[in-house]
Amino acid sequence: MTTALLTHADCLGHVTPDGHPERVARLEHILHALEALELKRVTAPMAADDDLLRIHPESYVRDIRAAHPADGFAQIDGDTFLSPGSVDAAYRAAGAVVRAVDLVLSGEASNAFCAIRPPGHHAETETAMGFCLFGNAALAAKHALDHHGLKHVAVVDFDVHHGNGTQDLLWDEARALVITSQQMPLWPGSGRPEETGVYDTVLNIPLAPGSGGAEMRAAYETKAFPRLRAFRPELIIISAGFDAHQDDPLANLNWATDDFAWITAELCRIADEVCDGRIVSTLEGGYDLNALAQATRAHVEELIKAAR
Ligand SMILES: [Zn+2]
Repeated sequence: MTTALLTHADCLGHVTPDGHPERVARLEHILHALEALELKRVTAPMAADDDLLRIHPESYVRDIRAAHPADGFAQIDGDTFLSPGSVDAAYRAAGAVVRAVDLVLSGEASNAFCAIRPPGHHAETETAMGFCLFGNAALAAKHALDHHGLKHVAVVDFDVHHGNGTQDLLWDEARALVITSQQMPLWPGSGRPEETGVYDTVLNIPLAPGSGGAEMRAAYETKAFPRLRAFRPELIIISAGFDAHQDDPLANLNWATDDFAWITAELCRIADEVCDGRIVSTLEGGYDLNALAQATRAHVEELIKAAR
């Protein structure tokens, strides 16, 4: 069995202003780092509007389409921009996770990684923010639940920032467990342990600035993994952000590349126990190009090992 890699050249067509951390070179570095790996390479389709309507209202999708500029940039908030290629990129990103869920649930792939941008975990029901337009990870969850009829799915978000969008989109979804760890305090400011969702299916794990891999591993072993095993998801979706890396310029956690391998291997082990190894992982943040490439490669190598 294989690990699928889903991506599309359109995701390189989402351009941001000079100096913006969420830039085209991120994906270029990742694709280069994954070049030599044995992967089932899949061209990401565009999401259908019906897919997006599982998580966003029609008016929001229409507004995003209308906001895209003919040239230059359109600015949505302090740090979220659209270029002429951004809407296509966002539709490919959303389409990638939908197709990845289809591949893994049909058994055509054991697990999958979506090398996409723009990222998704900050996009709320009606608010694009934090470089994110559509809620990719939440869409993967809803697609698995509503289209494939799964009864339980889990999202694990180890990006250094709070997955506020995923939390918002799945806040009242009893069939989805959302586990998100984040540096706190840090933008966007949400993600306190008291935020638990309508059905107590949201688990927020704050991590102290300056803390490293040992603290992260202890938090996941004592809080995240027991909840994940008890929920018995039929699919695990990973919001794979690599900005908790010690070299990342946007935050102050000190994870090493090996910590990303560790958390991936542990999630693969739990997936083996509870759901035949089914994992769909999607790229979120990570802004030091070399650290991002190395950590992503370590993440995907663990997915490949687990798929054997
Ligand atoms: Zn982040």
